[in-house]
Amino acid sequence: MCGIVGVVGNKNATDILMQGLEKLEYRGYDSAGIYVTEGVNQGRLIKSVGRIADLRAKIGIDMAGYTGIGHTRWATHGQPTELNAHPHTSETGRFVLVHNGVIENYLQIKETYLSNHHLKGETDTEIAVHLVGEFVEQGLSVIEAFKKALNIIEGSYAFALVDAEDPDTIYVAKNKSPLLIGLGDGYNMVCSDAMAMIRETSEFMEIHDKELVVLTKDSVSVMDYEGNSVERDSYTAELDLSDIGKGTYPYYMLKEIDEQPTVMRKLITAYTDDNNQVTVDSEIIKAVQEADRIYILAAGTSYHAGFASKSFLEKLTDTPVELGIASEWGYNMPLLSKKPLFVMISQSGETADSRQVLVKANQMGIPSLTITNVPGSTLSREATYTMLLHAGPEIAV
Ligand code: GLU
Repeated sequence: MCGIVGVVGNKNATDILMQGLEKLEYRGYDSAGIYVTEGVNQGRLIKSVGRIADLRAKIGIDMAGYTGIGHTRWATHGQPTELNAHPHTSETGRFVLVHNGVIENYLQIKETYLSNHHLKGETDTEIAVHLVGEFVEQGLSVIEAFKKALNIIEGSYAFALVDAEDPDTIYVAKNKSPLLIGLGDGYNMVCSDAMAMIRETSEFMEIHDKELVVLTKDSVSVMDYEGNSVERDSYTAELDLSDIGKGTYPYYMLKEIDEQPTVMRKLITAYTDDNNQVTVDSEIIKAVQEADRIYILAAGTSYHAGFASKSFLEKLTDTPVELGIASEWGYNMPLLSKKPLFVMISQSGETADSRQVLVKANQMGIPSLTITNVPGSTLSREATYTMLLHAGPEIAV
């Protein structure tokens, strides 16, 4: 995991990006960088290997600006070096981009479209910003060039792109990697995680896979890759900045372990009424009753949580429960029972392997229930049913 953050508008961009990156620190990363601009061709790019504090140490107090993008990197292609750290720039330096994910056809793109380009590092990401630059050089508008690039790029990505010649706009797109818009008064933001924006706003807008968003300080336009505009309502998130503080605990892990009894009480309150009767959505109960087998699909700790529930669930539902590791089922779905119910467990609701299984389950018409901590997350949106964990933000990883 890594993270991206961007802001355009009437705020101090450096301050917002740096505090956003600090909030994303828990996701793990090896290097970080920001690009901030105060006007046409007045951008500054600073990168550093190591912690956000190392990046902060390189940033002068005079580096303000009103538009910027930032990144914490978890290297997948190329060493964790300053050269490979994001943001990356196009051949002429006009376009600047951050990316979270993996571009699967980057070598092919390099060969087909960028044979005369000079790439500085070894990342898959750099080809994306060079590709946009190349298409603009060929005469396309920025939005057309970005759309064309997005139709060519395969893999997972959350992108934020800035044109140094038009610093009042941020172009954003996503596929399979998490990304969310934050709406403000006179500014707009984009980030991998709502937590990194809640100091500024609690008003958010989802971006779905293969959507492109154009952000200015007072407008947000969502469209598909053909350019058709998409209507999307915003929502207010019930997040509390104090939830993500450590309080008096030395570590988040201790805090989150200690919070378990409180979370259990919250869960019981959420799913029972005053007479201790279960208040789970009757549609979910019906789906469980109709299933001849329950398949729990998850990854890592969520898989173990599912495993721990197996015998309990079997007794409770009188239905066989089978466990699956999402990364394996995504590539090789076993023979299923006649009336399966898939249960996806994911803290973030964004686990890519679990999503892959859910996409297949949806294609096969299999009903599904996502158990997650994050309302509005991808797995929650795409499953037939959702049950929330009410555990508060998970910071310890
Ligand atoms: N694949 C990109 C890289 O290696 C982005 C990795 C990330 O998501 O941090 O630079």
